[in-house]
Amino acid sequence: MEPRDGSPEARSSDSESASASSSGSERDTGPEPDKAPRRLSKRRFPGLRLFGHRKAITKSGLQHLAPPPPAPGALCSEPERQIRSTVDWSESATYGEHIWFETNVSGDFCYVGEQYCVAKMLQKSVSRRKCAACKIVVHTPCIEQLEKINFRCKPSFRESGSRNIREPTFVRHHWVHRRRQDGKCRHCGKGFQQKFTFHSKEIVAISCSWCKQAYHSKVSCFMLQQIEEPCSLGVHAAVVIPPTWILRARRPQNTLKASKKKKRASFKRKSSKKGPEEGRWRPFIIRPTPSPLMKPLLVFVNPKSGGNQGAKIIQSFLWYLNPRQVFDLSQGGPKEALEMYRRVHNLRILACGGDGTVGWILSTLDQLRLKPPPPVAILPLGTGNDLARTLNWGGGYTDEPVSKILSHVEEGNVVQLDRWDLRAEPNPEAGPEERDEGATDRLPLDVFNNYFSLGFDAHVTLEFHESREANPEKFNSRFRNKMFYAGTAFSDFLMGSSKDLAKHIRVVCDGTDLTPKIQDLKPQCIVFLNIPRYCAGTMPWGHPGEHHDFEPQRHDDGYLEVIGFTMTSLAALQVGGHGERLTQCREVLLTTSKAIPVQVDGEPCKLAASRIRIALRNQATMVQKAKRRSATPLHSDQQPVPEQLQIQVSRVSMHDYEALHYDKEQLKEASVPLGTVVVPGDSDLELCRAHIERLRQEPEGAGAKSLTCQKLSPKWCFLDATTASRFYRIDRAQEHLNYVTEIAQDEIYILDPELLGASARPDLPTPTSPLPTSPCSPTPRSLPGDAAPPKGEELIEAARRNDFCKLQELHRAGGDLMHRDERDRTLLHHAVSTGSKEVVRYLLDHAPTEILDAVEENGETCLHQAAALGQRTICHYIVEAGASLMKTDQQGDTPRQRAEKAQDTELAAYLENRQHYQMIQREDQETAV
Ligand SMILES: [Zn+2]
Ligand SMILES: [Zn+2]
Ligand SMILES: [Zn+2]
Ligand SMILES: [Zn+2]
Repeated sequence: MEPRDGSPEARSSDSESASASSSGSERDTGPEPDKAPRRLSKRRFPGLRLFGHRKAITKSGLQHLAPPPPAPGALCSEPERQIRSTVDWSESATYGEHIWFETNVSGDFCYVGEQYCVAKMLQKSVSRRKCAACKIVVHTPCIEQLEKINFRCKPSFRESGSRNIREPTFVRHHWVHRRRQDGKCRHCGKGFQQKFTFHSKEIVAISCSWCKQAYHSKVSCFMLQQIEEPCSLGVHAAVVIPPTWILRARRPQNTLKASKKKKRASFKRKSSKKGPEEGRWRPFIIRPTPSPLMKPLLVFVNPKSGGNQGAKIIQSFLWYLNPRQVFDLSQGGPKEALEMYRRVHNLRILACGGDGTVGWILSTLDQLRLKPPPPVAILPLGTGNDLARTLNWGGGYTDEPVSKILSHVEEGNVVQLDRWDLRAEPNPEAGPEERDEGATDRLPLDVFNNYFSLGFDAHVTLEFHESREANPEKFNSRFRNKMFYAGTAFSDFLMGSSKDLAKHIRVVCDGTDLTPKIQDLKPQCIVFLNIPRYCAGTMPWGHPGEHHDFEPQRHDDGYLEVIGFTMTSLAALQVGGHGERLTQCREVLLTTSKAIPVQVDGEPCKLAASRIRIALRNQATMVQKAKRRSATPLHSDQQPVPEQLQIQVSRVSMHDYEALHYDKEQLKEASVPLGTVVVPGDSDLELCRAHIERLRQEPEGAGAKSLTCQKLSPKWCFLDATTASRFYRIDRAQEHLNYVTEIAQDEIYILDPELLGASARPDLPTPTSPLPTSPCSPTPRSLPGDAAPPKGEELIEAARRNDFCKLQELHRAGGDLMHRDERDRTLLHHAVSTGSKEVVRYLLDHAPTEILDAVEENGETCLHQAAALGQRTICHYIVEAGASLMKTDQQGDTPRQRAEKAQDTELAAYLENRQHYQMIQREDQETAV
């Protein structure tokens, strides 16, 4: 035996933790004492100490709270656990489970340590994963080995089974060894320089994945008693939901029996209620400890929004917050989470995505009637985002640190937002000759937050959707922009049904008939606007102060603005002009006498002749980003704001920014001085911008070097250089919210995307180069020599008889899976009507995707049929394969409405949820005009 760690504090810590978790003995199978020396022998003296820490730390990961009771049968019967990248909300969730994402972080270290790392035995490079919640990195095959060092993630909940449930509980730190660490040691105040290179395997720091406190990994800085100390949860403690609030409940045995009995007794009457009753039991319950200082936050993210920006941002939230307060909207709607957290006092919500995501959450809050309703903040992803702009959250996301965003959400002001009801019914006076083939009687949404419009803009969106459904790969938002601009130039050609808009509508606002006024104006499109922004940031009502006939626009005054657009004013809108102001009103009665394209918050349809009533529905509670000085001033000695500031302005190129924005010093060195501005000490960035722009117009001074004389691009933006770790961009729409002293003292950095970097080369990749066209991949089909391909009828017959083997055989022999029978029914229609899951699955996997939305003679897609038949699994397959949830049949019903008619409320709720999700998936394309 080699010498062991003899430090008394390490020992006492070990024994303490052992006793603290003694009731959960099966979990104590971590590093056993006799295994330790082997490991220690590789280390020098400081290593001995370190190991003492490490062992204690790994154990501390276990005993934060009460020890978890064993999950039944989980320990031995499941040798290979699934590697999860989402939070497990099921009954069998593992305590302290990590949340793994692919990583390509540099270096080759593995958190399990050399002794347990199995990757070095494999002679090739092995992929690695990083846990988003505690940021450890291990080789994928080494994940299982974490059991051996007993290292669990920060625990996100506690077990309700423990006896001390009434005792005050607190959160302990979750200490993790780090090989790289930013910032300073909390004990000695020095930085964490790496002694060796980037790839050093040496542990330099110990930091807590809850509060982010960091210490040098040596006894003089990190004391062992800290392992046991309660954790403050760090600077964002006010918004973090402590794991002590989240309880996993055990399913009570007797309740199960009782509910079965009850069910039997009332089976006939209440059989349809069976589902929800059973669903009421949830494995997780929230038991909050209210505190006036807290503003607990729920985060909902649309992961696909903004070209997968959402997926990346989820990982940051998992690090800063409790993973159980962060929800991925692709994994289910906001409803369950909001229900679960409904009793939490002072709750706030952060919606990450486009305006559609926000709308979905607001509609869900309406349904749940939470009192008081939690205020909703927005992190805008993608483009468009007019509601987010209105509430000062900006038009999109660049690279602001998540930590800053959390502070803004916490400090933002609570404001009200009007929401409008939209009711449409068929116009009985419209003659049958006005019926239009593609028209519907139903609006895609019956409530709006941003706008309701009719005419040209809806027409363009509709055309765009239709073309995209037929040819998805060719249609992106850039193409939609082209259509819009082309529309302004060749209006007669594209306008179609919106050409004589004024002839086919009657508009009465608060009892005043606006029809004559509209007939005079002859607008191509009319917008009923709730917020100042429209079409990705334009302001169709114009700015307050420049008109006297009307009040300035507000989002909380109970009034809608009614605006008409001629082709001229539409064109002017894009260069800062505004539309024709018609009126401001509380109620609109709109009658159309033929089918006209309309749009509700970006969702278009062609609405048959209708009577439409718009009236105030309610007000939603929102969070508006506030203009503020940061709580932590740049200088601790709280200097008063100087009257004048002389600031040196330096430019950074995009190339250097991308390469170096994590290395502040290098980036500063690569920056190019532009000049000096003198601004009032309390000016915001908007004012500062004006000064910098002026600098750019000044004649180039003598002695200007070649680099500095390159003109400042109009696309430049400010960089915040004050955060500890890196620079980040400030959204141009947010400049009025930032004081210049917040981002600079005597030097300010700006990013100029068109500046050639110091290391600029002529061979820089141009972002405008056309994307390579992907070769289409038709279904592989093996045509045997002479044999004629099977006839379509044979395939239909196989699908109808539910003969899976035959169908597969015919397909392999070259049978066409897109064959349709005399009533236009596809194989999928047939498979759905026989309820054959196996055949449905096969067709979804092998047939071209057009099969999903193919309609039969009577206008039904296969999803309509599956919904009407209440086939839940098949519906699920078809929806996940990408079928449209918006298609209407000949009665104007969507698949959800078919499920409602079939009285399957759960299926209808599922389809509604997916319908919302499908809408927000499109939101990048919607508003980007
Ligand atoms: Zn490894
Ligand atoms: Zn983890
Ligand atoms: Zn901590
Ligand atoms: Zn230190």
